[in-house]
Amino acid sequence: MIDALVIGAGMSGLMAAHVLTRAGRSVTLLDKGRSVGGRLATRRIGESLADHGAQFFTVRDPAFETFVTAWRERGLAYVWAHGWSRSSLDDARRADGHPRYAFKGGMGRLAATLAEGFTADIRVNVQVASVTAGKHGWRVVDTSGAEYKARALVMTPPAPQSLKLLQDGGTSLDCTTHEALSRIDYAPCLCGLILLDKPAQLPEPGAIQRPGHRVSWLADNRRKGVSTQPVLTLQTGPAFSREHFNSSDADIFALLEEEWRPYARGCRVVEAQVKRWQYSLPITGYHERSLAAPTPFPLIFAGDAFGGPRVEGAALSGLDAGQRIVDALR
Ligand SMILES: Cc1cc2nc3c(=O)[nH]c(=O)nc-3n(C[C@H](O)[C@H](O)[C@H](O)COP(=O)(O)OP(=O)(O)OC[C@H]3O[C@@H](n4cnc5c(N)ncnc54)[C@H](O)[C@@H]3O)c2cc1C
Repeated sequence: MIDALVIGAGMSGLMAAHVLTRAGRSVTLLDKGRSVGGRLATRRIGESLADHGAQFFTVRDPAFETFVTAWRERGLAYVWAHGWSRSSLDDARRADGHPRYAFKGGMGRLAATLAEGFTADIRVNVQVASVTAGKHGWRVVDTSGAEYKARALVMTPPAPQSLKLLQDGGTSLDCTTHEALSRIDYAPCLCGLILLDKPAQLPEPGAIQRPGHRVSWLADNRRKGVSTQPVLTLQTGPAFSREHFNSSDADIFALLEEEWRPYARGCRVVEAQVKRWQYSLPITGYHERSLAAPTPFPLIFAGDAFGGPRVEGAALSGLDAGQRIVDALR
């Protein structure tokens, strides 16, 4: 039996595995995605790359800063901007001095870089179906029926999905933990990628933020330094995302065209894709960086709903969860 299983190889799961492996623990990470990263996601479109999950990251805490400094020294992370203009092409950039970082090769590369930094058994394309407390530790079963056993467990999927995995394994949580997890709520987001035949006309630094609009974010991945061709990433606000979550790609683009077109006049759309994020950002989170359940074997819930609704929040949550498991196994 291994020491720890981590469900989810997004930012929080990778950080938890980082701490556990550094403490000499045997760790297996399981993720249903085709690669590590979760919402740190970069997709190929045409001959280019584009970020269709997190667009940038910020740094507030020294624990995360240590990682970012190391990436900067290796030429991997770089400052993209210090703020965004709102919606008008004439609007001056709202620089607030707070650096927004991008990652060479896209945010998916950030996750891959983290995963390359430690020795753990990382398995992608593995969808966990249930989680059960066995006699000697946790028993996790995936959708192919394969079984994984561990002394401790870190769960990083969005809270409703984690709850379902426990329920499907017949594992009941105490009322307090169950209620805390049930209160966590997320906003959906529709993310469009649009490959253009020539550059769009976005103001510096190649992105705009438009709170309250259907298209709440519009950015050019080439201006960010991620793609070789002009590829726009657009994100829709929560209300539009909820209303049109199941609409066809064609309908979504048709409804949004008048919002992004002013920034890409005369450009031809070469290719367009839509990614639907059901759980994009927590709107109601938990007040601590991770949540330990009073179960017979260590079980910690982690993710951006615990550490804060951003890349850094997920990282801090994962670091916290990893350390709590190290302490519990001691
Ligand atoms: C469109 C969008 C834009 C964003 N923009 C920004 C931004 O600009 N700046 C910023 O700081 N943050 C941004 N964020 C938020 C940021 O991406 C997240 O806060 C962070 O990446 C969350 O990491 P996590 O590890 O908590 O969760 P996730 O990355 O979601 O990781 C959870 C993992 O669990 C896996 N999983 C789930 N269920 C199962 C299962 N049954 N079996 C196996 N694996 C499973 C998933 O595949 C996933 O990889 C954005 C998010 C989205 C969606």
